[in-house]
Amino acid sequence: MTTLAPRVVDPHLLVELQRLGAPDVSACVSCGNCTAVCPLADNDGTFPRRLVRYGVVGLRDELLASKELWTCYHCAACSESCPMEADPGAYMAAARRYAITRYDPTGVARLLATRPFASLGVLATLAALFAALLTLDHGPAPTDRLDLFRFVPDATIHWTGIAVMVVVVLVALGGLASMIRGVARREGLGARHLLAGRAGWAHGWRAAWDAAIVESLGQRRYREDCTTGTPEPWYRRRWIAHALTMWGFLGLLAATVLDYGLALLHVRATGTPEPVWYPVRLLGTVAGLALLVGVTTLLVNRVRRATTSVEHSEPGDWLLLGMLWLVGASGLATEVALYVGGGPAWGYGIFLAHVALALELLVLLPVMKFAHVLYRPVALFFHSLVRATPGA
Ligand code: SF4
Ligand code: SF4
Repeated sequence: MTTLAPRVVDPHLLVELQRLGAPDVSACVSCGNCTAVCPLADNDGTFPRRLVRYGVVGLRDELLASKELWTCYHCAACSESCPMEADPGAYMAAARRYAITRYDPTGVARLLATRPFASLGVLATLAALFAALLTLDHGPAPTDRLDLFRFVPDATIHWTGIAVMVVVVLVALGGLASMIRGVARREGLGARHLLAGRAGWAHGWRAAWDAAIVESLGQRRYREDCTTGTPEPWYRRRWIAHALTMWGFLGLLAATVLDYGLALLHVRATGTPEPVWYPVRLLGTVAGLALLVGVTTLLVNRVRRATTSVEHSEPGDWLLLGMLWLVGASGLATEVALYVGGGPAWGYGIFLAHVALALELLVLLPVMKFAHVLYRPVALFFHSLVRATPGA
């Protein structure tokens, strides 16, 4: 006879979720309309109603261990079909905010999510600290031409970047460990499913391919799910804006890594002036423009409350989009400063702001909404693995 682990009920769960923007889902009467329309309700026919139930009755661990939290793209079809106006789509978004605060081992995520004014103070202090660190041993700022890497030595950027990456990786691993432990236990998946001979590995590779390439980079489900809910004109479609933002960000990351890679291989020095068609420069420019167009569209959609899914925004939504926009805009402005000729003082200021903001965005990645780039691919991996693994 199997012994079931006792379920822990958290009577404050719904209040906590409401602090993070969840609607009052206690109005839910379990009619099942949301499950009938949800494009993800393809397994046991209980999603998203089951997760709404977890919130109402306080089943915190079950909620946190639900991979569907992250596979949901907030298409809002469920909210539009709910007769009680319980807004399950917005509830799922709040549950994801809650999960980020619970997975985070540092407690910073909770502060950012629940105390907007204190968060602004933290953000301003962090940006000022990075700017101070970068200019600690700054060189001259020539006015005949913009020499950015004499002003802020590339070694300073390099080592600050490495220190930031170490922090990010440690915090991200802590969060991922909490999430993976819960989801794997709940789904009955363990190492044995990956180690079960060739079939196990095949399932694992297939699931990893689906999660990383088909869904995360190709955004298949996002494209398909976004055909439900309120129709939007093509230029404002969420998946297009999201794809531009994601690919723009990845392109900028790739351009930065390539720039450093070429310097390490002594092909060229970091920050060497290049024509606009130089491949790495071109990649950075195109990626920066894509990021700005994508983020601006997402911001405009939120301001206009264009669809049900963006009818309500939380501070964390604005924070991520605002920071991405500032990083993209300051990067492009730095490039403009390089081409206007001479060494304008504003060019040095914009460059410093750009690097400080980029480092801040990176260090906060695991503790703000940005953390979905960590959790969603893992949830998609489990989703695919469960479907492919018999008896899981
Ligand atoms: S449609 Fe609304 S009332 Fe019905 S189960 Fe879903 S959340 Fe509850
Ligand atoms: S927002 Fe869309 S994907 Fe998410 S639970 Fe609702 S219907 Fe399903």
